[in-house]
Amino acid sequence: MKDLAERGRFGDYGGRYVPESLVAACAEVEDAFREARSDPGFRERLGTLLALHVGRPTPLTPAPRLSAELGVTLLLKREDLTHTGSHKINNVLGQALLATRMGRTRLIAETGAGMHGVAVATGAALLGLRATVFMGERDVERQALNVFRMRMLGAEVVPVGVGSRTLKDATSEAMRHWVGATGEAYYCVGSVIGPTPYPWMVREFQRVIGDEARGQCAEALASAVPDYVVACVGGGSNAAGTFAGFVDTAARLVGVEAEGGAGASRGRLGVLHGFRSLFLQDEHGQISEAHSIAAGLDYPGVGPEHAYLRDLGRARYVTVSDEEVVAAAVRLARTEGIVPALESAHAIAWVIRAAGAGELPPGATVLITLSGRGDKDMSTLKELV
Ligand SMILES: *Cc1c(COP(=O)(O)O)cnc(C)c1O
Repeated sequence: MKDLAERGRFGDYGGRYVPESLVAACAEVEDAFREARSDPGFRERLGTLLALHVGRPTPLTPAPRLSAELGVTLLLKREDLTHTGSHKINNVLGQALLATRMGRTRLIAETGAGMHGVAVATGAALLGLRATVFMGERDVERQALNVFRMRMLGAEVVPVGVGSRTLKDATSEAMRHWVGATGEAYYCVGSVIGPTPYPWMVREFQRVIGDEARGQCAEALASAVPDYVVACVGGGSNAAGTFAGFVDTAARLVGVEAEGGAGASRGRLGVLHGFRSLFLQDEHGQISEAHSIAAGLDYPGVGPEHAYLRDLGRARYVTVSDEEVVAAAVRLARTEGIVPALESAHAIAWVIRAAGAGELPPGATVLITLSGRGDKDMSTLKELV
């Protein structure tokens, strides 16, 4: 399949719908990324950071007890074992390195639950950059521990008190702040969303998940390629990175969304945060708030490439309920000794449901990306389990 991403368009989706003042800034990021990705020196520096700081490659772990219970063969791609505990660091280190290459001295970012913010604070500290992280006031209250983690790492956290005071507003505020600071600051987007080149660039930085998994599956499976490749979808970066390793194979790609944050499954065409894609909207076309037990999936839209893969029929998008997610997290913990992030548990929950319903043929091989670890979710889970 031809890679349209490079041209910044995925069929009807994508684009660069930003104020005039940010068009040049986005173009500069795009030029710098094109140069960097074909520069062996940049690739080597990033590869070294990912190996020595993040702990890559992450293992592909079999899940024998849960596999036996479900009658399928599960393989878990362990992004939960990365430094800082989720896949977000892969993308952040790529962009932070790009920022230093562009001569920028500060990273700007937004965060919802705080995981991207923590990754940005980490990358900034590691490379000697300053970091300014915008976060909705409600999230600042709900995620106090991650706020402290960011400050511990030297980042400035800016509470956003407008609108619903959550991720959607923090994103708008971060973009507004970038307008006045494009000379010294680099805007570090946390998922495969935003104006061109971000959806393409973030997927390329997350491709390491899918590329590693492809090689590891070739060793682990007689068939070399799994029958199913499953990942959770918020904005869609861990799924996009995973799918990138398998899009040219016969593997069936499944993205699992939260029922209350199902941009790909239930969204309608719209424009927000500089790109055109599928967004949850009310009857007047106003973008709705997303709601999920997993804060990392609380985004009302989905990356443009997912909307495109859905239209093509190359990937399928499904939803699971909060109850299924909690049950799946408990089940993985008690069969395999792995407590997944609630986001990642969405992928497990769909596999459990599909295996139980006979939708996955007995003996099917299933790769699941575990995007993060569950430590951050203990205060939510302790009320429910
Ligand atoms: C942020 C986050 C997600 C959702 O983001 P994507 O861009 O859809 O990958 C999923 N899992 C974890 C652990 C996260 O922190």
